[in-house]
Amino acid sequence: MTASIPLAHPGQEALLAELRAILGEAHVRTGEDDLALHIREERGLFQGRALAVARPGSTEEVAAVVRAAARAAVPVVAQGGNTGLVGGGVPYGGIVLSLARLNRVRAVDPVNATLTVEAGCVLLDVQQAAAAAGLLFPLSLPSEGSCRIGGNLATNAGGTAVLRYGNARELVLGLEVVLADGRVWNGLQGLRKDNTGYALRDLFVGSEGTLGIITAAVLKLFPAPKSRATAFVGLPGPEQALALFTRLREEAGATLVAFEYIPQFGIDIVLRHAPGAVRPLAGDHAAYALVELSSPRQDAKLDDLFEAVLGTALEDGLVEDATITGSEAQRAALWNLRERLSDTQKFEGGSIKHDVSVPVSQVAAFIREASAACEAAMPGIRPLAFGHFGDGNIHFNLSQPVGMEKGAFLARWQVFNRIVHDIVHAMGGSISAEHGVGLIKRDELLLYKDPVALDLMHRLKAALDPGNILNPGKVLAIGDDLPPALPPG
Ligand code: ZN
Repeated sequence: MTASIPLAHPGQEALLAELRAILGEAHVRTGEDDLALHIREERGLFQGRALAVARPGSTEEVAAVVRAAARAAVPVVAQGGNTGLVGGGVPYGGIVLSLARLNRVRAVDPVNATLTVEAGCVLLDVQQAAAAAGLLFPLSLPSEGSCRIGGNLATNAGGTAVLRYGNARELVLGLEVVLADGRVWNGLQGLRKDNTGYALRDLFVGSEGTLGIITAAVLKLFPAPKSRATAFVGLPGPEQALALFTRLREEAGATLVAFEYIPQFGIDIVLRHAPGAVRPLAGDHAAYALVELSSPRQDAKLDDLFEAVLGTALEDGLVEDATITGSEAQRAALWNLRERLSDTQKFEGGSIKHDVSVPVSQVAAFIREASAACEAAMPGIRPLAFGHFGDGNIHFNLSQPVGMEKGAFLARWQVFNRIVHDIVHAMGGSISAEHGVGLIKRDELLLYKDPVALDLMHRLKAALDPGNILNPGKVLAIGDDLPPALPPG
């Protein structure tokens, strides 16, 4: 749709030589196989290109790489686990700066309940470091075995425990950031109160590598859960799910950790395509909720709480069936149904995906209205509306009609974006709830983001990265040579 960023940059050979001098030969990779891991979005939606992958081993080396690239006017695309879902980490020319070698835990302070980690720590390792200190780092995502904390913070990741603990932004107290001019901002204070001016930390969280490169963070820890109960609930529809959610929020209070929504079509595809997946309830239901309670108390009697709330809801006709478990194996089996929704959908042909949020009061109406509008626009289309219902965040995915040609379906990407995003916007919602903007939402932002907010974003970008070298073409469309905003249809 637009011209792409040129692959060749004047002076690129001199830059590569300089990077080799800074990092050593082994940490500046230019081979096709080395680049392959870093230039492609994991679902294959975007195929980028890069001059090299630079692998610094320290903050000082990150800063030196950025300084060299800035002098040569060559773009730098910071990358963690490259698990993002919006094309934000895909380079279109320039240098990929991999944070993978910055993977040390720098400090643990159990009394302050903080953990200071480098950006390249894998999320699972961060969780384990917190657990080793007897505490909890609650950020949890399907990709936690390979995504890295720097990327989680740069994209303000959400996940399945946001309801209780907040998203990544709410889980960080301090940051260390390499700026576009190569200076290092040391903001690694582990303070819960600091009222000394502008919220710089929050500028970088969610900036998707366009304002600075996060190299380390002070993370907030929480008491570890000592009791847990999980319920899988069959419901007549989203309206009843919303009624059940509000009852649980009132009765369970802070013990309510997750309230995830799954439609019958979701259960069907997981049972069809995920080996070993187990049917959660005897019968079929239009909708399901996966609900989790946890408490730092051993004797919290969470099963009793579930039985009381679900029992009343059953009598009132809100709930059709439910199973409650305190067993770790059964809990894992229930969460497996939820976690396999995204990847099993690909076996049903092409899918067009949306990551949206609306006020929680609107979430049932959104699912109804958006499903009906898409079905009216294409008979046979199969909506898969699932996800973080308790946050008002629905992954509104559309599977192609059975038998339709995949390419013909994906060619309608923008048509369905418009239908779904218009409904979201009319409900006061957001077109990106937790995945970010990257490339996929960049041009959608022009349609839905408040123009004054967009102007402020451009001013911030110009102030912090006047040369537009940090992840150019992502989030904001700046300059003439832009990477594509949409995957090839
Ligand atoms: Zn999600």
